Amino acid sequence: MNNTVAILECDDYNPELILDKLRESWMLAGGKDVLDVEGKRVLLKPNVLLDSNIKKTATTHPEFFRAAIRLMKELGASEIIAGDSPGFPKPGFKAKGCGLWDVCEDEGIRWYDFLKRSTVIKNPEGRKVKSFTVTDAVENIDLIISLPKLKTHQLMYFTGAVKNQFGMIPGLLKSSFHMKFPTRSDFAAMIVDLHQALKPDFAFMDAIISMEGPGPGNGFAKKTDLLLASSNLLAMDITACRIIGYDPDIIPVIREALDRRVWLENSHDVETAGMRLEDAKIQRFQKIKLTGSNNQLREFLSPAFIKRFLYNLNPKPVFIEKRCIRCRECVSICPAEALSCDDMIKINYDKCIRCFCCHEVCPEDAIAVKRTLNSSGIIR
Ligand code: SF4
Ligand code: SF4
Repeated sequence: MNNTVAILECDDYNPELILDKLRESWMLAGGKDVLDVEGKRVLLKPNVLLDSNIKKTATTHPEFFRAAIRLMKELGASEIIAGDSPGFPKPGFKAKGCGLWDVCEDEGIRWYDFLKRSTVIKNPEGRKVKSFTVTDAVENIDLIISLPKLKTHQLMYFTGAVKNQFGMIPGLLKSSFHMKFPTRSDFAAMIVDLHQALKPDFAFMDAIISMEGPGPGNGFAKKTDLLLASSNLLAMDITACRIIGYDPDIIPVIREALDRRVWLENSHDVETAGMRLEDAKIQRFQKIKLTGSNNQLREFLSPAFIKRFLYNLNPKPVFIEKRCIRCRECVSICPAEALSCDDMIKINYDKCIRCFCCHEVCPEDAIAVKRTLNSSGIIR
């Protein structure tokens, strides 16, 4: 399998500039030799975590998305559609707030509603999941081109090209996977199963302005001035991790994917083209601190009160009362039914599995992830 990742400097969301860079990165990553787009039906899969303003940097930038559409047209795609499904269920979701819908209109392509119909894809090679329910868009396309955003992630530390496929699962179905696979390692195995089932063909990563700190929904914009391209999405994620200063071998999704030896032999089996990796590295990128586990301590430690004490020292969601607008998005998405909301959000930490879905979807940044013994879960 091709293992080349193109890294290019790109310091602006000017669509012509990005198109030039995408074209160059496409060639450096193997071009037509690794993927022939001519006459193919293409699904572009941006990363739409929240339908929020581009200033939040939670989503693939609309001008990056536009340039990717234009490149697919140049390469001769016969049809281009685009879509994604954020965590919370909104039938007819149109990605208007984040600007992707308008780009689809301008460029004359269809935004596909991932919540309308679904289909089941088999995954005999899966370690945890042997079949997935995903958008039925996959039935009428030839290629999946992933457009991830470089971001940190409270649960998985880093989210990039491989994890971007999670949005192919419609709406709230996604949160049920947090209940089924509450440990980081099992959740990572499920993500890699999905990646193996969908087999995305190529990825362009928007790392022009990335997200550092408490991502993937409420982190901070960090100008990183880069763009990555590869047909090997694992190699891309390994490269992105090195750029922001993570050891890729300890990122759960990467570790799991490497263990299968499907895409790469090991994390050093990656070639880069374009910029030198050393020159692309970003200094002082604010990362999520690695913790041993999210709730694996529960499984291994005893007696019960020590388990509980240590578990409570793990990072957990804490609600900032003055910021909360009582929209209940967090209550709807919580897979453990650990949240309720009358006049204020209440959390039952005995039920909470530390998946941080609530933190991802909160539109007001009213949920912090902290190590604290505060048992009410509220900061006033
Ligand atoms: S914590 Fe956030 S998501 Fe939950 S109700 Fe308040 S504002 Fe909405
Ligand atoms: S309260 Fe938040 S972190 Fe806990 S299970 Fe619910 S969504 Fe996950």
